[in-house]
Amino acid sequence: MKIPFGDLKFQFEAYQNEYETAALEVLRSGWYVLGKHVSSFETEFADYLGVKHAVGLASGLDALILAFRTLGIGRGDEVIVQGNAYIACVMGITANKAKPVFVEPDKYHNLNPDLIEEKITKKTKAILVVHLYGQASRMDKIMSIAKKYNLKVVEDCAQSHGAKFNGQLTGTFGDINCFSFYPSKNLGAFGDGGAIVTNNLQYAEHIKMLRNYGSSIRYYFEEVGLNSRLDELQAALLSVKLKHLSELTAEREKIANNYIKSIKNKSITLPLVAPDATAIWHLFVIYVKGDRKKLIDYLNKNEIGTVIHYPQPPHLSQAYEYLKMKKGDLPLTEDYADHVLSLPIYNGMPKSHQDFVIKKLNEYK
Ligand SMILES: *Cc1c(COP(=O)(O)O)cnc(C)c1O
Repeated sequence: MKIPFGDLKFQFEAYQNEYETAALEVLRSGWYVLGKHVSSFETEFADYLGVKHAVGLASGLDALILAFRTLGIGRGDEVIVQGNAYIACVMGITANKAKPVFVEPDKYHNLNPDLIEEKITKKTKAILVVHLYGQASRMDKIMSIAKKYNLKVVEDCAQSHGAKFNGQLTGTFGDINCFSFYPSKNLGAFGDGGAIVTNNLQYAEHIKMLRNYGSSIRYYFEEVGLNSRLDELQAALLSVKLKHLSELTAEREKIANNYIKSIKNKSITLPLVAPDATAIWHLFVIYVKGDRKKLIDYLNKNEIGTVIHYPQPPHLSQAYEYLKMKKGDLPLTEDYADHVLSLPIYNGMPKSHQDFVIKKLNEYK
């Protein structure tokens, strides 16, 4: 039995007719960029979250870049972010010439709220909250710190579409919140895509202008912008998927619960979900106490695919050599990078495959 880490074919086949109808409608319409499908997806996505505005963009990274830019965060400013964030989170900060200040994660792999205050300086302007692996961060503490120090909050919800803290959806806490619709994300398109959401009309209008070369009136340019538009085809397909997101999430939850209930091996720590938080299981990440390489090789031999999210923390990447950080600066972040492992979890994953993964893990010594 060959079990891939992920397979996007099944989530397409589940609603194939609807996707094909939507795609054909766009292809036949003669209008492919910034049209009625982008506007209607923006309205539907904002309504789904219960926020006032959503702006479709070309990627999650662009969403982050434009969020910090619109908040006026740049050279000389510091942004708090967790050490084990995805590289794009950090690039969203540094593309604006601001400095990332890393905080160690908590045992849920999210920003540890108890370690934020000691990192706040006069230069701190914002907290970037990354709801990693699909679990909502502990927003009660984070928002009260932000309020106390008058900091902006940007949420990175690229992995957390639909996850909640205290019953409130991620993407509704911060000033400007960012989503990715990369195909493998829980609300994934069939190509690249992203969005920002906000309750602030000025922010939304600014980002609409920036995504289109800095232009609101055709061929008149107010600022040096980007080309970062969500296209009509992706928007139409996302509208279809958004309607089914709760079913898709429930299916992943079922797989995760099967794993949590049945995986029993002393060398594996299963993922924990914080009280008051929910997880939408973008990834199912275990902590391997012993030799991770040995477990990966064993699973490979049994034709079970795994991926490490992420093997190298941003502060140790070549890209961020200029920050002059070294191994040992973020011990917990580095420990996670050395020990985490993501198990196969995807929509349409057969129960027999889940049970095979469980069986092989339980047999592992
Ligand atoms: C995927 C991802 C991004 C980047 O999104 P893209 O659409 O690939 O640019 C940013 N942050 C996190 C946490 C992600 O998982």
